[in-house]
Amino acid sequence: MTEHYDVIIVGSGAGGGTLAHTLAPSGKRILLLERGDFLTRETDNWDAGAVFVDGKYISPDTWYDADGKPFQPQVHYFVGGATKLYGAALYRLRPADFGELKHADGISPAWPLSYDDFEPWYTKAEWLYQVHGNHGEDPTEGAYSRPYPWPAVSHEPRIQEISDALAAGGYHPFHAPCGILLDEASREKSHCIRCTWCDGYPCLAHAKADADVIAVRPLLLQPNVTLLVNAEVRRLETDPGGGRVTSVVVSRDGHEEVYDADVVAVSAGAANSAAILLRSASDRHPDGLANGSGQVGRNYMYHNSKAVVALGKESNDTVFEKTLGLNDFYFAGDGREWPLGNIQMCGKSNAEAMKGEEPKLTLLAPHWSLEEVAQHAVDFWLTTEDVPKPDNRVTVDGDGSVHLAYSPSNNHEAAGLYHQLRKILNHLGMADHHVLAKNFYLSMDIPVAGVAHQAGTCRFGDDPATSVLDVNCKAHELDNLYVVDTSFFPSIGAVNPALTAMANAIRVGEHVLSRMS
Ligand SMILES: Cc1cc2nc3c(=O)[nH]c(=O)nc-3n(C[C@H](O)[C@H](O)[C@H](O)COP(=O)(O)OP(=O)(O)OC[C@H]3O[C@@H](n4cnc5c(N)ncnc54)[C@H](O)[C@@H]3O)c2cc1C
Repeated sequence: MTEHYDVIIVGSGAGGGTLAHTLAPSGKRILLLERGDFLTRETDNWDAGAVFVDGKYISPDTWYDADGKPFQPQVHYFVGGATKLYGAALYRLRPADFGELKHADGISPAWPLSYDDFEPWYTKAEWLYQVHGNHGEDPTEGAYSRPYPWPAVSHEPRIQEISDALAAGGYHPFHAPCGILLDEASREKSHCIRCTWCDGYPCLAHAKADADVIAVRPLLLQPNVTLLVNAEVRRLETDPGGGRVTSVVVSRDGHEEVYDADVVAVSAGAANSAAILLRSASDRHPDGLANGSGQVGRNYMYHNSKAVVALGKESNDTVFEKTLGLNDFYFAGDGREWPLGNIQMCGKSNAEAMKGEEPKLTLLAPHWSLEEVAQHAVDFWLTTEDVPKPDNRVTVDGDGSVHLAYSPSNNHEAAGLYHQLRKILNHLGMADHHVLAKNFYLSMDIPVAGVAHQAGTCRFGDDPATSVLDVNCKAHELDNLYVVDTSFFPSIGAVNPALTAMANAIRVGEHVLSRMS
């Protein structure tokens, strides 16, 4: 016998958690099915060795690359999804990201909605996720209907120096938007203690505005919301006509369970959402559910990202480094043929994290030398847009295992952004004062196993022949199936994706409520 709900949501991350939060006040019966469990609060949350070297919070999944070679994707199956580990840099896409943009390796296609259409939901998401920022500093940002709920997180002295030097050099540094539970005016009222462990670590203090803390936990006492953890959705089944999802088939504690609902929203992350649809192939949907277009799983995007550690003569005592951003090279122009992307700071380097990120390079280095390097490190994160390519795709095999074929795009642009950063570093006087050789920067390209910014596998659009979802993120081919995570992105821009997933989940949630009423 199946249990019936008004809405079933698969996955409790940025998309699914935010959707549940939007729907819950309506009193509708909501079932939230989450493959993982709550992430345990423990001292290892802030232990670089446990997090980066042991990979304690990376889920033990096996996926296969284009050659069938197994790898462990850096996915995080917890209540809150990837946001449990995220850096909470909560950026809006730029208005031009919603239009078509030409890149060195192809076209970044237009969205069916404009920035102005999206703006009200960005604002709602920023207020829900307590984003700290200052509008008006970044010349590339779009119009806003309401200020951020919190002023920007202040720069620590070394970052302020860098910001001042950039401004003096004619650049336009801005305070990066951060989703943290920080009240700089009142230490007592602040959850956040401004620690180093934000980007890539779970927050032991629960002071990061992640989907668990902000969206899901507050619902747990509501009688109309049921959360089942360790509940992995394997497939969806439809009525005989194939027009409605009738059953959600779940593997929980080694048993198969079946649930049904008037509306089903899949929000399992871009790769897993596509895998669920592909595994749900049937006579009516022979190539996978909602896949008459053949687009499910295709156009997987990731971001062409690079973490760069620049070494200065000055000691960098910054604790919370992620307060600065720079979009001067985001678009083409000023002699640049192509858009290059966004520069921001990432979590402060420490010796243990360096070992985890660069095991070969650091193998023979004594711990004290890594500590010395970390003390002088200034950590940058470079993001270049990855254009959607049909052959970058998720497929499943006969066992239902995930295969990910992926090759990066826009390497030329990414190299251009790196070049611009090196120019900046020279301008900041860092290159002459390296602890290591002049102009030597440790840099880390992100391998295929790093799937943090995955998106695009069920793009939304007006045309059922070229998109999986309609403009409300409902599957073109089914009456009651929605996909509400980063899968819907037709293009990914060059800023972090989570705020767009959250804003969209609020947008789709409001649509579902109006449909149900
Ligand atoms: C280390 C790291 C740092 C990051 N930093 C930033 C940042 O600073 N800013 C930013 O914007 N983004 C950042 N991101 C990316 C951001 O976290 C993701 O873009 C965002 O969480 C994606 O939301 P989602 O809803 O698509 O997927 P997720 O948030 O991953 O949620 C998917 C959920 O579905 C569950 N699930 C998967 N399969 C199933 C199944 N079969 N059945 C049931 N449940 C399932 C998962 O366990 C998970 O809870 C970062 C990510 C990582 C890993």
